[in-house]
Amino acid sequence: MSRCHGVPVSPGPAVGPVRLLSAPPREPSASIPPLPEPQRARDAQRIPAAAAEVAQDLHERASRAEGPAGGILTASAVMATDPVLLGDAQERVRRCGTAAERAIWEAAAQIADELIALGGPMAERAADVRDIAHRIIAVLRGEPMPGLPTADEPYVLVARDLAPADTAELDPTQVLALVTAEGGPLSHTAILARRLRLPAVVAAPGVLDLPEGTRVHVDGSTGTISTEITAAQEQRAALALRERPSAPSYPGGGVQFVDGTRVLLHANIGSLAEAREALAAGADGVGLLRTEFLFLDREHAPDIAEQTACYREILELFPGRPVVVRTLDAGADKPLPFLSGPAEPNPALGVRGWRTTAAHPEVLTDQLDAIAAAASASSAQVHVIAPMITTADEAAQFTAQCRARGLVSTGIMVETPAAALQAEQLLACCDLASIGTNDLTQYTTAADRQLGALAALVDPWQTAVLRLIQATCAGGAATRIPIGVCGEAAADPLLAPVLIGLGADSLSMTPSALGPVAHALGRLSRAQMRDLAARALSAPDAAQARAVARQALP
Ligand code: PEP
Ligand code: MG
Repeated sequence: MSRCHGVPVSPGPAVGPVRLLSAPPREPSASIPPLPEPQRARDAQRIPAAAAEVAQDLHERASRAEGPAGGILTASAVMATDPVLLGDAQERVRRCGTAAERAIWEAAAQIADELIALGGPMAERAADVRDIAHRIIAVLRGEPMPGLPTADEPYVLVARDLAPADTAELDPTQVLALVTAEGGPLSHTAILARRLRLPAVVAAPGVLDLPEGTRVHVDGSTGTISTEITAAQEQRAALALRERPSAPSYPGGGVQFVDGTRVLLHANIGSLAEAREALAAGADGVGLLRTEFLFLDREHAPDIAEQTACYREILELFPGRPVVVRTLDAGADKPLPFLSGPAEPNPALGVRGWRTTAAHPEVLTDQLDAIAAAASASSAQVHVIAPMITTADEAAQFTAQCRARGLVSTGIMVETPAAALQAEQLLACCDLASIGTNDLTQYTTAADRQLGALAALVDPWQTAVLRLIQATCAGGAATRIPIGVCGEAAADPLLAPVLIGLGADSLSMTPSALGPVAHALGRLSRAQMRDLAARALSAPDAAQARAVARQALP
């Protein structure tokens, strides 16, 4: 292979030798005969013993680690002793006579599949569960645990996918770039790379064929990995490495452009822990509170009192600041057992988000009652938005239900091309809207956001997506309704200025992106961003739109 391509997720060039992440253990055979009865109890006991060893190793590494690595390793250690994972594996040994290694492999695969079916940030946790299983299997076999390579010179880290435990101790002065065969723009690799400002490319299947030690040029801006390296590329990579600044932080209070105007930067959160993380990262408020965390793994929706208590805890962290609460977005990539109707041939085009309220109106009304109760007891500025709104009539129905409960600021997620193209009509009854670029991209390009094979299409730089963002912002300007952007697009420091140039009023992102995005925006004026947006819009495709922005940014 002299050249292969993937999806660029963190910009910048790098040149260096390939080091492969220690390969995970090979899959334990599924075809060995069942263990004899007397041996099963003993084999089942080996699983928690091996898991305890893995947890202890992770805890020890956590105590030596600095910064956020400690928390990541501790979370992995806790996952290693997860009773659901271990209990399921032991049950497979006792009931079916499956060998211990195979049993933990199958139990982890089942949990990983369930997480993938939930989609969004939950799907990205699948790699973490598999990683824990690989470590337990390595202990069961007496093999070294998988992990980062030891190398005497800086290297390009190549892996099938990266779990947090792989990367928690990653030394950014030793790693030149990250390249994975799998993963997507929402993967842990992408988030980590942006945080550390390492060039990164994901969904590049060919990279696993590269022999260890091969020198490669990685372009995190175009997604190219090449073994033919020019002198100019060597020079640019060396310069970028010298100048790689430490990740900028965000002090909060809005980012000021060079013309003196400002925008607020908000955080996307999906739990109380993430709310605390957002505060610590300087977020000016919450641009998207995903409420699914309250409903997962339930047979019934939580009652109003339980929901109210959870919302209150989060709202109390943001006195006087905006918190945009999104009502339950069930279905498709976030299935919930108690809301699922009969299996649908195309779940992403089916009964999801707002559409589930026709059959289960009480789930929405209870949730709105709980949000209203929490809002009235808090001094946060509470806004409520509904997911997957497609028509003006749906927007009006939602608004009416919110207003009936005294919720004064209501709006919609713009996630379908229909909503974007009709924004002015849909916004007529709203107080705000937020563009969900993850779904908007999926529906614009007709490419399932969960499929790594289509990652190149699930790219918000697709100019058709940029046009729909522009149309939504035009609808916002005509109705004087503020338009935010949430979804991963807002976390891309190169795309964020384009979004402001297209007319977005605020951006909301994963907390770790606040610093890099603020840094990128603070170097430009609105006029420059508008000019950049115009040039990106007229690019023929996503790669060239990105290239235009890269050339134009100082
Ligand atoms: C989106 O679709 O962009 C979004 C923010 O919502 P989610 O990722 O939760 O579907
Ligand atoms: Mg969405």
